[in-house]
Amino acid sequence: MAVLKSETSKEVVCPKCNTKNSTKVSIIGIYRHLLQIPFISGGKKGISICLKCQQSFDLKNMPSTIKLAYYELKETSRTPVWFYIGLITIKTLVLIKIFTKYL
Ligand SMILES: [Zn+2]
Repeated sequence: MAVLKSETSKEVVCPKCNTKNSTKVSIIGIYRHLLQIPFISGGKKGISICLKCQQSFDLKNMPSTIKLAYYELKETSRTPVWFYIGLITIKTLVLIKIFTKYL
């Protein structure tokens, strides 16, 4: 797993300690490995943590205000290219194998 993007939301008030500007929302990218190469994006998930009281939420139990901040962050994040590098390499190898069969 890798943190794709994280941001401390200015608007979100922590539901536990009522502190504003203390909730850090992160987008976690999930990938799998094949022969040490990260090759498939297993999707993204969101977590939030309050920097003051350490209260954390995952997407399932996130209060709607934090969820909103998460979706905003998600809109502006992209899956890094290296997630696909492994996949492209494998595809290329398969193509080479197919072509060399006919040579
Ligand atoms: Zn808090």
